[in-house]
Amino acid sequence: MKKAAVFLDRDGTINEQMGYINHLSRFKIIPGAAEAIRILNDLGYLTIVVSNQSGVARGYYPLDLVHEVHLLLKHVLKEESGAHVDAVLFCPHHPRGVVPDFAVDCRCRKPRTGLIEQACRTFDIDLPHSLMIGDMCSDMEFAKRTGIKGIMVKTGYGLGEIEYVLPRRQAKPIHIACDLLDAVRWIVHGEKAHSHRSAP
Ligand SMILES: [Mg+2]
Repeated sequence: MKKAAVFLDRDGTINEQMGYINHLSRFKIIPGAAEAIRILNDLGYLTIVVSNQSGVARGYYPLDLVHEVHLLLKHVLKEESGAHVDAVLFCPHHPRGVVPDFAVDCRCRKPRTGLIEQACRTFDIDLPHSLMIGDMCSDMEFAKRTGIKGIMVKTGYGLGEIEYVLPRRQAKPIHIACDLLDAVRWIVHGEKAHSHRSAP
């Protein structure tokens, strides 16, 4: 059976925006993010992280570090709130990278849609009921290109993106939330309203 997914940007949405996360010490979860993901787990959404990690192509940190960060992310989610993510997908590429294996003009760097296509090969996803939550306008463009709804958060680059970039962009969020937990509470509210409407 198809399941709706909530796609989650990583840096600036789940964990604090610290520039490149080039060391485990730079991974700091945003308050409430673990609780938010547990609520999505409880609601039955697939939770799938989709992240651009061009630092790999740029030679700033190795691929192994990205995997270590994701192990830490999963550990923190579990410890803090008993939350889990169903998949963590990322793009290590950049066309102007210096590491030959990753210096490519790929299809998976957001806002290109390769990461969603990867997710759809693994999971039977109900895209019309799926959402993307992120702190950048490129996350909203990614949502638009894949036909899902976008929610923008004010954490990370969010405030500046919302004020200075979003007005010029075509891809608009359906909602702007303070942070991930606020975004998820807004989704919960919508679900309740919907179940109220459809009640006999
Ligand atoms: Mg981000």
